Amino acid sequence: MKKLVIRQMVFEVTRKCNVKCKHCLRGKAEAVDMDTSHIAKFFKRVNALSDVTFSGGEPSLVPYIIDNIMHIAKEKSIPFDNFYIATNGVKQLPDFIRVIMELYLYCDSNEISAVKVSRDQYHREVTARPKPSLLDILVITQEESSDYHPEGLIAEGRAKKFPRARENREDTPRYYYDDENDDIMIVEEMTVYLNVHGDLINGCDWSYESQKDHMITNVTKDNWMGEFIEYVLEHGEQENY
Ligand code: SF4
Repeated sequence: MKKLVIRQMVFEVTRKCNVKCKHCLRGKAEAVDMDTSHIAKFFKRVNALSDVTFSGGEPSLVPYIIDNIMHIAKEKSIPFDNFYIATNGVKQLPDFIRVIMELYLYCDSNEISAVKVSRDQYHREVTARPKPSLLDILVITQEESSDYHPEGLIAEGRAKKFPRARENREDTPRYYYDDENDDIMIVEEMTVYLNVHGDLINGCDWSYESQKDHMITNVTKDNWMGEFIEYVLEHGEQENY
C-alpha cells in the first residue's frame, strides 16, 4: 500500500475568525471548522509529516481540533518534526496554551517550531490587547511588521485590493521514493494544504474562494491517494538522491 511522507503540511482547522483584517488573504470568515473524520481518512495513507502548520481562520478558537489531529497522529504513530501556528493573539484560552505545549512535546525536532503572534501593521489595528499575557510568555516567535509590507501581501481574499500585492502561485512539487521501501513517496517543495472540507490543495495562500480552483482531490474519496500521486507525477519533478 502506497504511503506518503509530506515535508510541508498545513491543516486548515477552522474558517472562523474573531477579527476582520484588511489584508486577510482568506477573505470573508465562514462558520465552519475542520471535520476530524477527514484527518483519520488522510492519516491512513501518511507515514510521517515534517513541518506541520495549523492554519485558519484563527486557530486559537479551536484548540480541541488541533488536539484531535495530534491525538490521531499519535494513535497511528505518525511523527511530526516541527509545528507552526500563527495567531492574532486575541483569545488566549488555557486549552490553546496547553495544546501548544503538547505539540512541542510531540514534535521530534522543534528546530524550527514556532508560534507567531501577529503584531504587524495590519493586525495592530484590530488586536489591541493588554501585555504581557500568558501567550507572550510562552510564545516562541513574535513577528513584527516585516512579513507584511505591501509587497509581501498576496493578492487573494481581501488583500486583492492592495495595489502592490503579488500574485499567488502553485508550488512545483519534488518527490522521491524511500530507499528501503519504494511504496513510500516523499513529497517536498510543495505545501500540501488540507482544508476544512477535506480538499487537498497545492499551496497555503489561497483564499477560501480560490481553493476550489486549486483542489487536487478530496480525502473522502476512496481513491484520493491515487489522484494525489497522479498530480505529483504530472506536475512535479523527481529527485535522484
Ligand atoms: S488575517 Fe488571520 S486574524 Fe486576520 S481576519 Fe484573516 S484569518 Fe483572521
